[in-house]
Amino acid sequence: YLETIADNLDSFDARWHKPIEQMRSQSQRMENIVRDLLVLSSIETRAAPRAQEKVDLGELAREIEAHTQEIMQEKQHRFLIECPEEIILLGQRSELYSALSNLVINAAKYTPAKGTIQFRATLDPKGVTIAVEDNGLGIESHHIPRLTERFYRVDPSRSAESGGTGLGLAIVKHILARHDSELDIESTPRKGSIFSCHIPKERVLS
Ligand code: ADP
Repeated sequence: YLETIADNLDSFDARWHKPIEQMRSQSQRMENIVRDLLVLSSIETRAAPRAQEKVDLGELAREIEAHTQEIMQEKQHRFLIECPEEIILLGQRSELYSALSNLVINAAKYTPAKGTIQFRATLDPKGVTIAVEDNGLGIESHHIPRLTERFYRVDPSRSAESGGTGLGLAIVKHILARHDSELDIESTPRKGSIFSCHIPKERVLS
């Protein structure tokens, strides 16, 4: 109902426009929080499936690029992918998509307009490093150890504005743990951040 009402604002007295818009955006926020909590609880309670899928990393990166086009265009960001062909990961495709797209969306959200977001994969003898780098707001070092806690935010007002739930990085951390990996965060305030992980060679076919 709220969406229909918001789409027909002209039928309502002008003094209702702001409250209606706020009701709509708050209910959207609530929906996002419920969705992320359900994702988190399903990852926490379900054992990691034994059957591993073969996940083409370059293809996954291009899918993330296609699905984040709207926010990239809106903010006039450049999105660059650097990924050797034929890196195949063993894992859960939907989970890896969720983790890596979360990092790309955060990079886009927390980078002022006309930024550069890079998705990089580099092979080494011990596996593959996947990094998402931005030249955005950056994060003060004392926040970094707490970023993967549920609902932890550096700047609650700014994250709420951007539609975040504060659960994204908690989800990323759990998914990476299920892929024998962990999240590494390097950041410099006002310069940018690199969120990366190293997937061990046992999970890499190339
Ligand atoms: P949110 O839904 O608030 O984005 P996340 O768990 O995804 O929650 O991220 C937690 C907090 O980490 C964010 O509120 C933001 O302050 C900070 N953060 C995440 N990614 C970045 C980034 N690329 N640059 C700067 N800050 C970031």
